[in-house]
Parts: sequence; structure tokens; C-alpha cells
Amino acid sequence: MSSEVEKARKATKGGETIFSKIIDKVIPADIIHEDEQCIAFRDVNPQAPVHFLVIPRKRIAMLDDVNQDDAQLLGHLLLVAKDVAKKENLVDGYRLVINNGKDGAQSVFHLHIHVMGKRQMGWPPG
Ligand code: ADP
Repeated sequence: MSSEVEKARKATKGGETIFSKIIDKVIPADIIHEDEQCIAFRDVNPQAPVHFLVIPRKRIAMLDDVNQDDAQLLGHLLLVAKDVAKKENLVDGYRLVINNGKDGAQSVFHLHIHVMGKRQMGWPPG
């Protein structure tokens, strides 16, 4: 089992996470986009030559926890993912991933969209 999958199997939902600390600037990150609703920053353990995460400022643990009130925010996250992908010059395409819960291999319980590019992706994912 990969260490990321092992981490995901042990992860639990809580309040503060490493990502809320990045939002609060308590710990550093390579932030490439910031606005009033979200931030985007480079993944510390990239799985592709370009790999960044788009996260809401609002503390939402996982996709399972969103509701109709979050519809605008979710749309905004996708638009930011697309705009930052363009800025990162991902002209040949890219992949978005949301890991949800244990079977989804989610290890950080603050909703995030992975955006990966600059290599050919395979299917199915592991
Ligand atoms: P997984 O760990 O299985 O990929 P997630 O979807 O929860 O599950 O992804 C969390 C991501 O956050 C990982 O890709 C990990 O490399 C990244 N990450 C963890 N800590 C940091 C950090 N301090 N700065 C940037 N990225 C981080």
C-alpha cells in the first residue's frame, strides 16, 4: 500500500488542518492564486510536473459535506482551476481530481481540487 493511501486510511475529520494553516499563513506554501473565496498552491509532493491544489477558504472537510448553498463556491473553484491551469501553460490538457473519504484516498480533510498536467495521464487511476 502506498504511503499516501496509508495516510488516507488513518486520516480523520477535524477542524484545523494543514490547509487551514496555509490559508491563515501559519505555515508557508507556494501560493499561485488568492482571492476572497479560495487559494491555489503547489502540491508539496507533486504527482506531475505541474501539480497544484485549489481550496476554498471556507472550512469544508470533504465533497460529501457540501450542499446547495455551496454551489456558487464550487463553480468558482472549477473556474479558478481552469484559469490557473491556463496561467501554468497547460495547453495540452490536464486532470482534476477530488479525493473523497477513505476509499477515495483523501488524507487532508479540507476540500481540495488537485490539478495536474505536463505529462500524459493514464486510466484507470490507482
Ligand atoms: P492524498 O494524500 O492521498 O493525495 P488528498 O487528496 O487528501 O490525498 O491530497 C492531499 C495532498 O496535499 C497531497 O497531494 C499532499 O502532497 C498535499 N500536501 C500535504 N501537505 C501539504 C503542504 N504543506 N503543502 C502543499 N501540499 C501539501
